[in-house]
Order: sequence, then structure tokens, then C-alpha cells
Amino acid sequence: MIDTINSCNNCDNSVYIETSTGKWEVVIGLEVHAQVISNSKLFSNASTSFGASPNTNVSFVDAALPGVLPVINSFCVDQAIKTGLGLNGHVNLVSRFDRKNYFYADLPQGYQISQYKYPIISGGYIDIDKEDGSTRRINLERIHIEQDAGKSIHDQSPNKSFIDLNRSGVALMEIVTKPDMRSAEETSVFLQKLRSILRYLGTCDGNMEEGSMRADVNVSIHRPGTEYGTRAEVKNVNSFKFITAAINFEIQRQIALLESSGTVDQETRLFDTGTGETRTMRSKEDAQDYRYFPEPDLPPLVLSEERIEAIRKTIPELPDAKTARLQREFDLPHYDATLISADRETADFYERGLKAVNSPSKDFAKMLANWMLGELFSCLNKSGKHITESNVSAENLAELVNLIKINVISGKIAKEVLELMWESGNKAIEIVEERGMKQITSTEEIEKIAKVVLAENESKVSEYKSGKDKLFGFFVGQTMKRTEGKANPQILNEVLKKLLSEA
Ligand code: ADP
Ligand code: MG
Repeated sequence: MIDTINSCNNCDNSVYIETSTGKWEVVIGLEVHAQVISNSKLFSNASTSFGASPNTNVSFVDAALPGVLPVINSFCVDQAIKTGLGLNGHVNLVSRFDRKNYFYADLPQGYQISQYKYPIISGGYIDIDKEDGSTRRINLERIHIEQDAGKSIHDQSPNKSFIDLNRSGVALMEIVTKPDMRSAEETSVFLQKLRSILRYLGTCDGNMEEGSMRADVNVSIHRPGTEYGTRAEVKNVNSFKFITAAINFEIQRQIALLESSGTVDQETRLFDTGTGETRTMRSKEDAQDYRYFPEPDLPPLVLSEERIEAIRKTIPELPDAKTARLQREFDLPHYDATLISADRETADFYERGLKAVNSPSKDFAKMLANWMLGELFSCLNKSGKHITESNVSAENLAELVNLIKINVISGKIAKEVLELMWESGNKAIEIVEERGMKQITSTEEIEKIAKVVLAENESKVSEYKSGKDKLFGFFVGQTMKRTEGKANPQILNEVLKKLLSEA
């Protein structure tokens, strides 16, 4: 049994789990199924729209009527090429389709057209950030394209099952990693980064709720310094939370098995979202069980260098490059730059804000980052909105930040202004002018008010003069209050120092 579980990061990047019998190392590899963004399916012209009535997006090809032939959708191929390039992979000029034979009620062909020995993309990698600021490279084995199956529905009738073929034939990319991950946390960070890159590329929307991204999770454990253990594969897990739970359950199950002299079977398991446990689905089928053979209805997929280069040119700046550039150009802290770059729409918003002012300074860039990641995100969270639905536009947020920067309003007042902007949709300057929220920067005006405050607090002034320095804050607070928070704090400080030294 497991007495204690302590994870410790050691120098070679491994995370060990220590129990009373010694250390275990965890090994994780993923097969991620990412639905290709495309209006039509991989081998037919049927629509891929999500949420359509059952069996309305089905062509003769998707229903596997006899005599029909698949025709490759070249846009889906372009999307896979783009993904491969974005993930640092090698695009193979010749790849091939194979038939993977198995019987499911929702697979009318009786086989899936996939790629087996010759995938379109080989290799690739993603660098993920570690907590200590270093990065770790997770390597990819391959990416291949294949068609999705339909969906069996068992919960609509007590004695009937239904089949919806809308998803049948939709293009998927299967992204297979090397067994390079070492913990549930690392796997989750990898998946978030992968999702972020696919969304930047516009090749998969990463919507896990709609099943656009799901993963088969392979987990094994072994003693450090020995060969990798036998893996169990947990099929089709479709949320970050469940993937973490499935991995942690598997780790505990396998440790318990091996520590009681049992063995881990190479098998396919299901994750039960109700209990948080995995259970046997079937013993692992070998490749030979699928009777793979080259798809006779499709020629090999041959690509030209020109086509690949043309697609390479369409790849936008990806999160790592954007993070590095924001750090380089604006001295943004790595943390801010990573947060901004992680989501394409957040990055777009931020960069639109930067563009709204002429040659933004580093100070301005840092302030804009703070205001977006802090105050604006808190408004978004409260109202459950995504940044693309923000009530305050990037340009208007930039204007607000600029008003702080050029001392028209203080940061404190700006929070109020932002709230009013959020409610009304008005511009910062309109609100500031309409409500007289401009900062008081006139030394004379501030002096007038400060004098009144000091006159009203004569005894405190003498206490201050006799050495009670702390009272300075009291005078600042009182004067600020009288100006309704509008005094420029720096000028206020100077004025008070001068008045008190003369008192
Ligand atoms: P299959 O289709 O039979 O599951 P694949 O080669 O497509 O086989 O996928 C194997 C997956 O299992 C890869 O993601 C790989 O990284 C992972 N894997 C391989 N060996 C191990 C292991 N010992 N422990 C954990 N994961 C592993
Ligand atoms: Mg598998």
C-alpha cells in the first residue's frame, strides 16, 4: 500500500513518487484527437456544423452507401500541414491512407480511413514552462489525419439505441506524443499549450466540451533507472480536470498493483466521470488486430514543396515567439508576457491596445498589461464574459491607461472610471469630464485645501513636530479625502512636507 506520496523535482527533471517501498517514476504519453476546423468533412462535402439535428450532415460517403468513393478534402490536408509546421514537425512529401478495420454500430464503413505507417507529419515538439522558470521539451511522435466515427446514443430509450452520423467522416488530426510527460500537472500544461497553439493556427478550436479535442492517456510507472513499465491506456478523456484525475487514479492503481506483486496489464481503460476511477474496457488490441492495409480507394497523398512553403507563410506569430518579443520590446515580465500570449484573442486585444497610442513606451506597455490582466479580467470574470465580448474595447482601455500615465486621473480614480466604462460603454475621457474626476495638479489649489486640514488638526501638527512622523500619513489621508481622491499624490506629498516644515 502507499503510505506517503511525496513528489520531488530532482535535477534530471524527473518527478518521483516515494512510497514505503521506494521511488517510482511516472511516464505519460498522449494521443490527442483534434478536430480539424473545416466547413466540410475529410472525404465528402457534407457540413461539419456542430449541434445540427441528428443525421442531417450526412452524405452518401459518410453513410458508406455501396459504390461511393472518398475524395480527399485538400483544405483539411492544408490544415494538417499547418499544424505540423506550427508544432515544429517534418512534413512528409508522400504519405498514405490505410484502412483500420473494426466493427462499431456507429462506423458504417466497418473501417476507419486513417494513416498508419506513413503519416503526413513526423516528429515535432512543444516546449512547456516549468514552475522554476526553465522549459521542458515534450516531443511528438507523429501527426496523422483520419476520419471520425458517428455517435451511438443509448440514453433516449430503454430498449433502443440510436445512431447519429453527423460526426461520421469529420476530419481529425491524431497528435501522438512520445512518452515524455512525468506527472498529471505536466500533462495538463502540455495540453493547454497544445490547445493554445492549435487555436493560434486556426486548425482546431480546442473546444473540449463539444469534443473537438479529446485525449487517450497512456500511463505507466517504473523504478527510477529501470526500463519503462507496461502502460495502460485510458480512452477518450475530454476535459483537463478528468485527464488529471484519470492520470492520478492510474498512478495509484498501478503502484498498489506492483507493490502487492501484481502486474499491470496492457489494456484499454475507461474513465468514469462519476466515480473518478478508471476501469477495464478491453484488453489492448494490437495493430495486427485491425488488419491495416493501404486504402485502395485513395492514391498516396503527394505534396509539393511549394504548397508547404505557401502554407508556412500563413503561420502567425505563435505564443512562444510572441512572449519573447513582448519581453524583448517592452521589458514585460515573463509571467505577464506568457499570460497575454497564451490566448490568441487576449494577445490580439493587448496588441490593439498598444497600437492605439503612438509608439507606446515600456511603462505604458506594463501599465496596459496590469490593467488588462487585473481590472479588466476581473470585470470579465464577474460577468462571465470572454475577452472578445468585453464591454470595454482595447482602444478605450488604452485611453484610460494613458489618462493615468499623463496624470489626468489617479490609478484609484481610474478603477472607478473603468467600472463606469464597463456599465455605460462610454469612453474614459467622457466619463472623467462629465463627472469632474480630473486630477488636481495645481499646487496652489492643493495647498489651499492642505492648509485647512492642518488648521483643523493643530494638536496633531504639534505631535508631528515633536517627532511623531507617522502622522504624515494621516495628513495625506485627510487632504486626499477633501479632494475626493483627486489630488495628485506626488504634489500632495510635496505640499504637505513644505507646509509642515514651515508650521
Ligand atoms: P496505440 O495506437 O497502440 O495506442 P501508439 O503508438 O499510437 O499506440 O501510441 C502509443 C502512445 O503510448 C504514445 O503516446 C506513447 O508516447 C505512449 N507510450 C508508449 N510507451 C509508453 C509507456 N511505457 N508508458 C506510457 N506511455 C507510453
Ligand atoms: Mg492508442
